[in-house]
Amino acid sequence: MKYVSTRGGMQAQLFSEVLLEGLAPDGGLAIPQTVPVVSTAELESWRSLSYADLAAKVLGLFVTDIPAQTLAQLTRDAYTEESFQTEAIVPIKPLMGEMSLLGLSEGPTLAFKDMAMQFLGQIFPHVLAARHTRLNILGATSGDTGSAAEYAMRSKPGVAVFMLSPLGRMSTFQRAQMYSLQDANIHNLAVKGNFDQAQDVVKALASDLDFKAQYKLGAVNSINWARIAAQVVYYFHGWLKATTRSEQLVSFAVPSGNFGNILAGHIARMMGLPIRRLVLATNENNVLEEFFRTGVYRPRSALQTHVTSSPSMDISRASNFERFVYHLLDGDAAQVAALWSQLGQTGQFDLSSYQPSFEKQYGFVSGTSTHADRLTTIRSVYEKTGVLIDPHTADGVKVAAQFAEPGIPMLVLETALPAKFSETIEEAIGHPAPLPKGLENLESLAQKVTVLPCDVESVSAYIRDHVTS
Ligand SMILES: *Cc1c(COP(=O)(O)O)cnc(C)c1O
Repeated sequence: MKYVSTRGGMQAQLFSEVLLEGLAPDGGLAIPQTVPVVSTAELESWRSLSYADLAAKVLGLFVTDIPAQTLAQLTRDAYTEESFQTEAIVPIKPLMGEMSLLGLSEGPTLAFKDMAMQFLGQIFPHVLAARHTRLNILGATSGDTGSAAEYAMRSKPGVAVFMLSPLGRMSTFQRAQMYSLQDANIHNLAVKGNFDQAQDVVKALASDLDFKAQYKLGAVNSINWARIAAQVVYYFHGWLKATTRSEQLVSFAVPSGNFGNILAGHIARMMGLPIRRLVLATNENNVLEEFFRTGVYRPRSALQTHVTSSPSMDISRASNFERFVYHLLDGDAAQVAALWSQLGQTGQFDLSSYQPSFEKQYGFVSGTSTHADRLTTIRSVYEKTGVLIDPHTADGVKVAAQFAEPGIPMLVLETALPAKFSETIEEAIGHPAPLPKGLENLESLAQKVTVLPCDVESVSAYIRDHVTS
């Protein structure tokens, strides 16, 4: 299995090679040369596997340059009951009728980002040790990604994390979760700016190729192919748990921002998993909903992006979307490159002639949810079932309900636990979400964070002073 660029300008590479890279040299994204297909017999033979062993099977189709036994050890170390608080790793939580939650947020930071990050926390040290090198992960976070990366990489050999966060802009819980880590290889840098400004500093440093090479900088952002591959696993897991027969179809509803989570569902469907619909849910930032409805892709600027109560979906330029367009255009990389160049010039492109195939061929449908919808959904699910859902998951439940069909299980991806976004929970039901066991005292723990001006000079000086080589 080798990987090429969605824009055609990269020599085919192995998994371990694309693992440590960000964008392809031509600005495109790494994508499998051909998507592997799983036969019905093989799928059926996976029914009794643990989550970790299922992960080794699914990932083994994408990772052909690491021995299967080694990979199986890495997934067993990643998906433990200790890290996920449940033997199932990903429990199914019935809601009402055919609708259930796929519980992706039982990991250390209470959001689905842990599902892929915990795997990266195993495979990065493995690949780095084999290559006798190390990596300094540099990133900016508005909340969930940064903490998932830090919890996955803490105390791991050969890896350090330098994570910029906007000073004073995250929730008390999110700050406590990140800044209470005391590990020597974790560096929390609270910068005096907003998320976009922090992101600009990261981009400037990552595009300074000398600096990047000298300090061995890398990234774990959502375009990383290994994250997508690790996310494919839970679509297989969800289907296996929701069905008893191989011909049974299942639909999945996915609260979406950067298009990483639902892209994994699209890959699973191309691999032959019997998925009926992929229901894409957005909040008020509905660029993707607009695309799947009309075929016109018109990303918005940071200024036009609404601040909402499902903040992890406040994204108007979906970085993984290019991989879907590559498949839509049948792997015509030149056409993908032309579309993105047009996007740079005119701010949009039009694929409306393909719109009928979005659902017919790829199963995609979409819908939008608003702040009022989130509150109503959180309240009504709580009253009817006693289950408390977070605002992002509520967007998924709201849109899923529009596409429910009799006889077809609908799995809504639970992308975070309510404790992480308790202010909105309180607004919906009148009291805050309970804190999970073991986290009751999180906010009173000592915090380790360095406050810096939000500029390239300050951050690069900090990195220079603190990298270990
Ligand atoms: C990251 C995130 C999302 C959006 O996922 P994408 O892969 O960016 O589409 C949704 N909900 C929560 C809680 C998240 O952290």
